[in-house]
Amino acid sequence: MEKELLQEIEEAQMVLVGFGEALDAVEFQKMESYAESALNEVGVSWLAPLFWERLREDIYSKGLERLAKLLEHKNYFVISQAQNSAIFQTKWREGRLVMPYGCWRKKQCTCMEDEIVPTPLDDEAAKALTRAVDSYVAVVRSVGSFASHDNDAGSVGACSAFKNGSETQNECAGIGNLESLPDPVREAMEEIQRRKEITDAANELKRAAEGILGKCERCGAPYTLNVIQNKNYDMHGYQLDWERYTKWLSGSVNRKLLLLEIGADERIPGLIHGPFAKISELNLKSTLRTYANAIDWLGNL
Ligand SMILES: [Zn+2]
Repeated sequence: MEKELLQEIEEAQMVLVGFGEALDAVEFQKMESYAESALNEVGVSWLAPLFWERLREDIYSKGLERLAKLLEHKNYFVISQAQNSAIFQTKWREGRLVMPYGCWRKKQCTCMEDEIVPTPLDDEAAKALTRAVDSYVAVVRSVGSFASHDNDAGSVGACSAFKNGSETQNECAGIGNLESLPDPVREAMEEIQRRKEITDAANELKRAAEGILGKCERCGAPYTLNVIQNKNYDMHGYQLDWERYTKWLSGSVNRKLLLLEIGADERIPGLIHGPFAKISELNLKSTLRTYANAIDWLGNL
């Protein structure tokens, strides 16, 4: 890593780290964006951040651990607009992380009573949920990869009944022999079939997730995940951390503050880029460093 940055960390009295939306970025393959909207359609939009996470490789954990180690003896705070669970699980100092958009590692209920704050998932539930989402990803990928062979000779679409041989062809109700249809019609039918398979898998994922998360002891409603994609997002999940953050920030006035902006999109002011620019403008002793490419930056630490 750059010597200059090491020295800046050394000399700073306080360090503020901001993780932007780039840490959640995912490039959708064929059918994956449809699969994301299917989560919404079946009423589990709160599974989207975990879904994105399972589409990506875990490329951040090690870099985040190195950063936490590097800041070990500093007075620091981390704010993350990204919902990446690697950030949640990094061993930051106790009470020095705020994730205002939430993270899938916490569950919540819709009753949102003050005394029922969102709580972290235990490891067993987190693992089970991850496995359920992985099964969904596997279905989406098999349907998607089948779709990419549309033009190959002999390809008849994603209907599993066709894939399983002639005996089960009748299960593909109403579609019949797609090969005899004109191309645009056949393609449209195949697309409908692919989408249906994904919607079915999304419904199955919903049932699995509800089973894993269980029901609220108070109101009996099924638990969901504490992320901003949840239409009943419970802000109690980050409120205490937010209070600690603003208090910490007010203590940075007139101190040598180093701001590290990592993976924030300059076009989106949001929680990181806009506020960091403002803080550095107001604090004349501060230094603002921006690193747009989070993967490279964390990788080189
Ligand atoms: Zn409840």
